[in-house]
Amino acid sequence: MITQNFNLLDAYWLTDSRQVLSPEQSRSAVFFAMQGEHHDGHAFVGELYQKGVRQFVVERAALTPARRTEFAQYTDAQFTEVDSSLRLLQELAGSYRQHFSLPVIGITGSNGKTIVKEWLSQLLAGDYVIAKSPKSYNSQLGVPLSVHQLNSSHTLGLFEAGISRPHEMQALETIIHPSLGIFTNIGTAHDEGFRSRRQKVAEKLRLFTHTETLIYCKDYPDIDEEINLLLKAVNPAVRLIHWSKHEGAVYKASVQQDQLTLLAEHGTWRLKLPFTDPASVENLIHCVVTLLTLGFIDEAALQNRLNRLRPVSMRLEVKEGINGCVVIDDSYNNDIVGLQLALGFLDQQLTRNRKVVILSDVLQSGQREDELYESVAALQQANQISEFVGIGPVIGRNAHFFPSGSRFYAGTDEFLASYPFDQLRDSAVLVKGARPFSFERIVNRLQRKVHGTVLEINLDALTHNLNYYREKAGRGEGGQPTKLMVMVKAFAYGSGSAEVAQLLQFHRVDYLAVAYADEGVSLRQNGIDLPIMVMNPAPETFQTLLDYQLEPEIYSLRLLQEWGRFVAGSKGYGAWGKELDAPAIRPHAPRPMHLKIDTGMHRLGFVEDELPSVVAYLQQHPALRVASVFSHLVGADEAQFNAFSRQQYDAFMRSMAGLEAGLGYRPTRHLLNSAGIVRFPEFKLDMVRLGIGLYGVESSQLERSMVRPVGTLRTAISQIKAVKTGESVGYSRRGVLDHDARIATIAIGYADGFDRRLGNGVGQVWINGTLCPTVGNVCMDMTMIDVTAAQASEGDDVIIFGNEIPISELARTIGTIPYEILTGVSERVKRVFYKEGN
Ligand SMILES: *Cc1c(COP(=O)(O)O)cnc(C)c1O
Repeated sequence: MITQNFNLLDAYWLTDSRQVLSPEQSRSAVFFAMQGEHHDGHAFVGELYQKGVRQFVVERAALTPARRTEFAQYTDAQFTEVDSSLRLLQELAGSYRQHFSLPVIGITGSNGKTIVKEWLSQLLAGDYVIAKSPKSYNSQLGVPLSVHQLNSSHTLGLFEAGISRPHEMQALETIIHPSLGIFTNIGTAHDEGFRSRRQKVAEKLRLFTHTETLIYCKDYPDIDEEINLLLKAVNPAVRLIHWSKHEGAVYKASVQQDQLTLLAEHGTWRLKLPFTDPASVENLIHCVVTLLTLGFIDEAALQNRLNRLRPVSMRLEVKEGINGCVVIDDSYNNDIVGLQLALGFLDQQLTRNRKVVILSDVLQSGQREDELYESVAALQQANQISEFVGIGPVIGRNAHFFPSGSRFYAGTDEFLASYPFDQLRDSAVLVKGARPFSFERIVNRLQRKVHGTVLEINLDALTHNLNYYREKAGRGEGGQPTKLMVMVKAFAYGSGSAEVAQLLQFHRVDYLAVAYADEGVSLRQNGIDLPIMVMNPAPETFQTLLDYQLEPEIYSLRLLQEWGRFVAGSKGYGAWGKELDAPAIRPHAPRPMHLKIDTGMHRLGFVEDELPSVVAYLQQHPALRVASVFSHLVGADEAQFNAFSRQQYDAFMRSMAGLEAGLGYRPTRHLLNSAGIVRFPEFKLDMVRLGIGLYGVESSQLERSMVRPVGTLRTAISQIKAVKTGESVGYSRRGVLDHDARIATIAIGYADGFDRRLGNGVGQVWINGTLCPTVGNVCMDMTMIDVTAAQASEGDDVIIFGNEIPISELARTIGTIPYEILTGVSERVKRVFYKEGN
């Protein structure tokens, strides 16, 4: 193994087969195939080989005889067999790290890791050439990839480490090997993998086994005590630099409004803080103490640095742009790895054919200018960017690396003044620039103005929920991962079908399901090529189903016969797009369909008695193929129906036995919805159907804290006025005031999905930390709110639901279910999609 490591160290490390590579990157790449719960990288070795990759690290357990035969064909490729590709990657990163003797700051803690890292990098930008983790790349996989960016020009490393299970930190310690550590804080949340908070602290502390200096806040007793008990035992020489709001620490920190005073034996510093919310203050103190520790002790100079700090927007946002464009706003991070991540995301914007990149000078890469821009240009080419725009003096003098037709501007002002915006149409535009270029002005110019109300969809929360349910669904009888069908009916439960489906396609779910053919067509037109089941296929839409390769749910004998007749008379499949050359579209391939069995819902579906006729019909019509058979539980979320759920399962299995015997093959079987996945893992069969859980509502209520809210419905205050006791507010004089009140009118009404039943004090909205009740009747486009108790001004943000007000709570106040709240947000409300980062 060690002899092999030698050439692997400097190779281009590739772990995601979806990443787009330049030819040069392909040649120098080594692909680490990993076999995960949901995903098997070995399946993509062939694809990468075709793209020119020749070095592969593969896992023994994944090498079935078929795989070995496949890989043996790639005679000029080199395969390294290991037990764990991730382990090898980590070992390599550890060896790689040993070649560098620069100071490295390692950051861990429950919150604030990324902010502290980003702020330190802003604060120290002039003094060091910094290598840092892109975004919150702090995992078992992210850390080795981050550290592998180090090169000889760097003079400081800034890396964060996050863990979710015991025994994970050891590996990260070897890779980061920090000389200076920062432990930001410890959250109250009790993480899944840990017995206690103390255990979590102890595990995180392993990052500092060899650090010379550790900075932390003494006001977290768990951290302080574990450091003294545990860390001191393994690293007795560690220098502890703590701060506290109380006496007894190296620095005593007192904060009054925006004034920070740090008091120590060796001096006193008074600084004005640029941000004053409690989380920012804590992060800022960590940063200032770090600067003091590094020797930056001049008060005025420190203040200057602080004044230049910018908030760290963790989000990569997708916004609706002018002229039918989508704008991907990623003005937060502009190193090469960050650029690669953003280009990958741009690539998923299947709805637009043209891809435009607007990029500023890449600051502080630590790379030689010509090398840097040559690789930036290669990335553009590999990602098939239609138009490239470079802004800044340095990128401009490297214009020769970029294809002709690229545009260059000296600065943001020049770009805004002379770029032909009206020619920019129907494109996906990535806007990515270093802070000093203030690219938010470009985003502002490109963004279609959104008035009032938006539904924000957190794509990272969606991914989190997807992974959570995937993990729950686990593996089935044969050891194969249980398949996942995701319900994207009703505009993906109100969240926006195309965008959600793109994310699901990226994460390679097995199936999508919609209610109507039209919904399926719209997904196809947005570049979705996953199999799609249509649950309510009217015979008038049969041709559409064939044309767009949509698979009907067949629920009655009448429908089965109509479908059978139609298929027999049709000439074959159409293709919905020229680009689509899927081998599945063969004229005589059997047409997949799905059989729905009624086991107790008494909605759509075959009853047991009808199945012999179904079998007989299918035996005579071999052009029809049953892709799957399914049923639906009526009360999967409620314990009182457990017995009935079991009865439904038994009925389903009886029906299956008859069908299988008659058909001579076993179609995919599925029964469970979101709540069922949590409550009846023993019924998961071959596939599960995920719905509301993906969108952030855990309807069984057993594992509520495990899913994350996805949508935030927000609007703004249009006007505030003082209204006296006894006066009334709104239609029909329903809102009579019993106190002198400040009344705010907000820009959302029942036509947007703000239910009329929420009026007259039944519902509340969240404004700057205060819950404020409605007053009077909800109007069509507006609602009045009593903001007497809140700090509220015109233009302020108003949250209808989200983290602050859970959807299920809102549903309960008006006696409905979360499904209705989600799907009730009308289509005129703009959807804004974002990725958060930390
Ligand atoms: C909508 C739907 C689901 C998803 O249900 P959730 O409760 O949202 O998880 C599953 N199966 C069928 C047949 C459905 O119509």
